[in-house]
Formats: sequence, structure tokens, C-alpha cells
Amino acid sequence: MRVRVPLLAPSHSSVLYDAFPREAATAASCRLSAAAGVSALSTRIAHRLRSRTVALRARAASPSASHAKLVVCTTSLNYADLDERAPTARKETGMSEIERALRIQLAGTYRIFAMLGWTELIYNHITLRLPGPPTHFLINPFGLHYTEVTASNLVKIDLDGNLVEPSAHRVNPAGFVVHAAIHRALPDAHCVMHTHTTAGLAVACSEAGLENTNFYSAQLHGMVAYHDFEGITVHGDEGPRLVAHLGEKRLMILRNHGLLAVGQTIAQAFARLWTLNRACEIQVATASLGRARAIAPDIAARCTRDSLQFDPAYGAGQDVLDALLRQIDKIDPSYKE
Ligand SMILES: [Zn+2]
Repeated sequence: MRVRVPLLAPSHSSVLYDAFPREAATAASCRLSAAAGVSALSTRIAHRLRSRTVALRARAASPSASHAKLVVCTTSLNYADLDERAPTARKETGMSEIERALRIQLAGTYRIFAMLGWTELIYNHITLRLPGPPTHFLINPFGLHYTEVTASNLVKIDLDGNLVEPSAHRVNPAGFVVHAAIHRALPDAHCVMHTHTTAGLAVACSEAGLENTNFYSAQLHGMVAYHDFEGITVHGDEGPRLVAHLGEKRLMILRNHGLLAVGQTIAQAFARLWTLNRACEIQVATASLGRARAIAPDIAARCTRDSLQFDPAYGAGQDVLDALLRQIDKIDPSYKE
């Protein structure tokens, strides 16, 4: 999204721009680029999610500066908008600015998973659809640890797991089966995450599944689907059954196997998965103390209604993801390469 921002005074200006659609207002990053006549800019950009405005402050060194050009990197995705813009953006820049921003955010998310201990050697995936058509996805290079994933080594594949651009890396087509089934069936499934965390797997192995006994599970009342174990997910025919079991829900416990989250954005999928995983961790910890105290279903339902963390109007987890990306920046910013 490009916006021409007038500089009201020749040297300094503040602009409140509030014409963003709801999804774009959760954008992770905005930046100002210089327009003709602007020799220097400094910016302070604040996202005010609830009012859906982005506050801009621009300072131009040149008195002749009349405007600045705002480029909003919609890393929080409004796919309807991005799909429309993608062909032109690709034509203009090769790998489009949109794709570059998404690669950086996805690579950073792999690093976040590593920081949280959500890794399984070289296995598991986070997949992200690129704006299209065509329908392409980014996935981690098979054989690399999550700490080795970078924006440029993410592999671009189609729905069948085939490489669509040359890459020095392979992908794990077997691991993509679950992701492909969901991406193929659900138009809003732009991001799919799957983990084998110990707590998540422990709950997935328990007869009761997720119990309504803690602060986090109460926020997921009626939100979690289940899919029975059919063996290692390498057979495409399991996909439609998995999608049918997911139904309208966007979180799934793969029984005896692990956790799965679907989101319209990386941030939304992450917020969902984090909450489910945290609920599992607490459930497992509580089990060592004996019988857990149940939460009444009506209280849990109210918790879920009151919890706005997945709601795009309240950021849909983007603020959380941004905070964690800042942690990654301090540890190792090489994911942006
Ligand atoms: Zn798995």
C-alpha cells in the first residue's frame, strides 16, 4: 500500500492517517521513503490498533519537500489486497516487496519457535501462502535447524510440494502433506503451524485431550478440533479427513501426534498456537499435583468471548509477534538475510 503523505510544514510534520482497512492497521512495519525533494527523513510511526490509525511524524531537511511517500509493508496480511497487488509488484521488483517482507517475518517466526524450544530436530513446518495467483507457499529448507532459517533460504513450493524456483535446498514433501491439505481446502488458511512440543504431544496422547481446567484452555472453549492418529502423515488420502475434522475451527490436536494451528496471518496462527501450547503445559504441570479443578463451561465460554487476542481488530497477535521478533533481533538478526 502506498500513500502520499503531505508535509504540512516545510521542515516538520505530523500526520494521522486513518484510512487503513482494519487488517492493514495491524501492519507490523511501516516505513517512509523519500519522495522527490526530500533529502532526509526521520520518522516515528506508531500503530494505534484500536483506532485503526497510523501516526506518522516526518521531518524533511529540504524546505522544498512537499510530501513523503509512505510504504506500508502489510506483514499482517490483508490477502484480498495483496493478491490484487502481487502481479504488479512482482513485475516491478522481481521478488516483490511483499514477498520479501513475508520471508523476513516467516524466517523470524522460525527463530521464535527455536527460542521457545518448539523445535523437533530438523522436522515440523510453518508454512505461509504467498499472495497470488499462482498459489505458492514458503516452507523451511529440509535439513536445516530452525535457527538456520533465513528469509532467502526459505523454499517456494506449490500445493504438491514441488519447487517453483531453483533452490539449493530440498523440502520435506511428506511433512507438507498436512499443511497442503489445509492450504488446499481452506481459503483463509494463509499460515499453518505444526509442532511436536512435549506438552502438546502429552495432551494429544491423553485420553481426555485438552481439559477445561486452566486460564488458557478457558480461552479456547469450543475452538479446538481433534483428529485421530492414522500413522505418519505421508498419505495424501488422510488430508480430506483431517480437513473435515477441523471444520470451522482453526486449532487442532492431532491425537498421539501434536498440535496444529491455522491463521489468516502468521501472527494470528502464532497467537492461537501459543495459547494452546501454554494450556497444554499448564495441564501437564497440574497433572503432577493430582486432580485439576474444572472450570464451568459457561465461565470458559465467557473467557473465550472476552479474550480478544485472536481478533484482527485488536491486533490478532501482531503486537506479541513483533515483541518476540525484537527479541530475536537482539539474539541474531541473521534471519533477515
Ligand atoms: Zn508431525
